[in-house]
Amino acid sequence: MFKFKKDKYSNNRGGNSTLLKISCQYCGTHICFYQKDGPGELRRMYCDRIIYPKELVEDVKVANFNELKPLKCKGCNRIIAMPMIYEKEKRFALRLFVGAVKKQKTTIKEFEN
Ligand SMILES: [Zn+2]
Repeated sequence: MFKFKKDKYSNNRGGNSTLLKISCQYCGTHICFYQKDGPGELRRMYCDRIIYPKELVEDVKVANFNELKPLKCKGCNRIIAMPMIYEKEKRFALRLFVGAVKKQKTTIKEFEN
C-alpha cells in the first residue's frame, strides 16, 4: 500500500502532502505520479518524490548529477523538465518548463487502482 513519505523535507513544508497525477500538457500522455509536499505551485519535481512509473523512479535514483537526464514525454518526445540541484537541500530535482505539464490532484485509492 502506498504511503506518503514523511521526513525532514515534508516537515519543512508544513507536513501536508498531496498526490499529483502529472501528464504532458501538449499530448496528454501520463508522465508520473508525484508526492507534492506543502503548498504552492509545482515548479520542480524532487527525484525522491516521484512515485510511479517504476522505470522513471529508477532513472532518477542516481548517485551523480551528471547521470540525471532531461525528462521527455514518451508520447510527443518533448523535453518537459531539466535536471537541477536544489541547493538548499542538496537534492536532485527536475525543473519543469512553464506550462509543460498538467497537474491533477488525485487520491491514494485512485493511484492504487
Ligand atoms: Zn507529450
